[in-house]
Amino acid sequence: MRYQWVLLLTLVGVVGCKNTTKQADNQPLKSGIVVLGIAQDAGFPQADCKKDCCQAAWLDPSLRRHASCLALYDSLKNQFWLFEATPDIKFQMDRFKKMAPEVSLSGIFLTHAHIGHYTGLMHFGHEVMGAKELPVFAMPRMRSFLSENGPWSQLVDYKNIDLQKLNADSTVILNERFSVMPFRVPHRDEFSETVGYKIMTPKKSYLFIPDIDKWHLWKRDIIDEIAEVDVAFLDGTFFANGEIPGRDMSQIPHPFMEESMELFRDLPKGEKAKIHFIHFNHTNPTLQIGSEARAEILGAGFEVAEEGNHY
Ligand SMILES: [Zn+2]
Ligand SMILES: [Zn+2]
Ligand SMILES: [Zn+2]
Repeated sequence: MRYQWVLLLTLVGVVGCKNTTKQADNQPLKSGIVVLGIAQDAGFPQADCKKDCCQAAWLDPSLRRHASCLALYDSLKNQFWLFEATPDIKFQMDRFKKMAPEVSLSGIFLTHAHIGHYTGLMHFGHEVMGAKELPVFAMPRMRSFLSENGPWSQLVDYKNIDLQKLNADSTVILNERFSVMPFRVPHRDEFSETVGYKIMTPKKSYLFIPDIDKWHLWKRDIIDEIAEVDVAFLDGTFFANGEIPGRDMSQIPHPFMEESMELFRDLPKGEKAKIHFIHFNHTNPTLQIGSEARAEILGAGFEVAEEGNHY
């Protein structure tokens, strides 16, 4: 009996100190963020990858992961907003609607014009859902890119989507309790600028930076930004340098997770526990459940974002 209580208290303690909960099937969903994708743009496994990294995921669908995406949910109004329109959006919306039945999509926030972050918009067009004026929040270059290039321009012309203006560092009020602030981050801006988001709700605030070149190239201090939120979803694309043999990784810069962990090494435990890595490339050993890399991250006090988890 005593052992059972100790066990129960231990479990409560573990759950209580984390910023994450696994959503129970029979409980109504609470307001907050649900993670709907944790992989890099190409998803996991990656097209045509025959290497060890993707082998198990080709064979076992339960190991597959979608491109990075968050759902922001307001339980009072039964509304949600997506952060990113990924190529996997139909599965992600389906998953979310099973968690929050009758919910309605109130808008989509885009970070930039790399394929994993906006191409899911195609599902709102004439050939699929035929959406009516779905608000899509995007920065100026991103808006021009969508309105001036097919097939995206058709979504604008047919009013399937209604492009909403975003300006860096200025807050978008979603309703009396929820707001969102975009901020610029350095990244390969071929077709659009790139932003991250700060998301504010009455109970928690969140940081979402799925893509950034390197922390030191940013005009802001990531450590200060983490201090201001409860949960930070941060770029974990690559674990370490040399991860993609035969490709010059300086051409596809991201903060290696090894570098990030070094940068955050001396943060207090509570600050480290806010950091949830996301946006994993198929080569990143973090995606392999039993890997040493994953054990190292968790052992150092950091977290790994998981699909279906509520934050
Ligand atoms: Zn990306
Ligand atoms: Zn692979
Ligand atoms: Zn990108």
